[in-house]
Amino acid sequence: MNPYGIAIHGGAGTISKAKMNKWKTQAYYEALKHAYSLGYQVLRRGGKATDAVIEAVIVLEDSHLFNAGKGSVFTHEGKNEMDAAIMDGKKLRAGGVAAVQFVKNPVKLAEIIMHKSRHVLLSGDQALEYAKKHELQIKDAEYFYDEFRYKQLQRALTSDKTTLDHDEGADRKFGTVGAVALDKRGNLAAATSTGGMTNKKYGRIGDSPLIGLGTYANNETCAISCTGHGEYYMRGVVAYDVSARMEYLGETLQEATNYVIHEKLVKLGGRGGLIGIDQTGKVVLPFNTKGMYRGVKLSDGTELASIF
Ligand code: ASP
Repeated sequence: MNPYGIAIHGGAGTISKAKMNKWKTQAYYEALKHAYSLGYQVLRRGGKATDAVIEAVIVLEDSHLFNAGKGSVFTHEGKNEMDAAIMDGKKLRAGGVAAVQFVKNPVKLAEIIMHKSRHVLLSGDQALEYAKKHELQIKDAEYFYDEFRYKQLQRALTSDKTTLDHDEGADRKFGTVGAVALDKRGNLAAATSTGGMTNKKYGRIGDSPLIGLGTYANNETCAISCTGHGEYYMRGVVAYDVSARMEYLGETLQEATNYVIHEKLVKLGGRGGLIGIDQTGKVVLPFNTKGMYRGVKLSDGTELASIF
């Protein structure tokens, strides 16, 4: 039997154990398990890696616990502008959406852009129009509102800082979500979705919707979804760099990701992590922060949900 499996993340950062009460921890574990289980079921039934990553990311977008879809952080103007992307490692097809409002599941919009548009990346109001044209679910501002995120914005406004999700005091974490999968036919896929940074201005876009930066998949190498301070991931071309090291230097997924997350990013001053999977079903979950919400389910029986 060919190996198959899925890995997911719900953001990395300095997640303070002290602030995580039993109820909150339980809620995160349940959401992670729910997400990777749904993705895994798609793969077990013989479904595509692209469908598996979408299933998993939708669960996380629909949960207010993560900074994606419902519960996305607020911009300086108090809006929720979301970024998402998907990539199919078989044909190197990709779709991304940036700074889009009101779309319930930005990852679905990224998928439609990949399959139906002639473009790779759409943005803003025009992307919203495109979502409406394809009858995706649209929600009002109230649906995305989360009091915790709103208070984050109020604090960021007082200090005039642009902060990453929970990037305050001891509880620093990045709440982007993502998934990578290998299906029974040996195809790889990656998807990422985020609200970006609290108090972001001027239409700021992060690494998540940009192919090769926060999201990348290639059947010849690996599938990668990143989470962390986007500006550093953009400057480091992180997701593609992992793939390129495997392709051109012959490194393993483990060697390539260790270098990129623990050496290259650290030198740049970038904090965060990523999830990756290769064609043998090998999964890596490196991060240079205190924790990263993550989960894995593989056909060899491996199952994991972890935070620290
Ligand atoms: N990478 C995302 C961004 O910079 C944030 C995150 O991972 O939490 O928009």
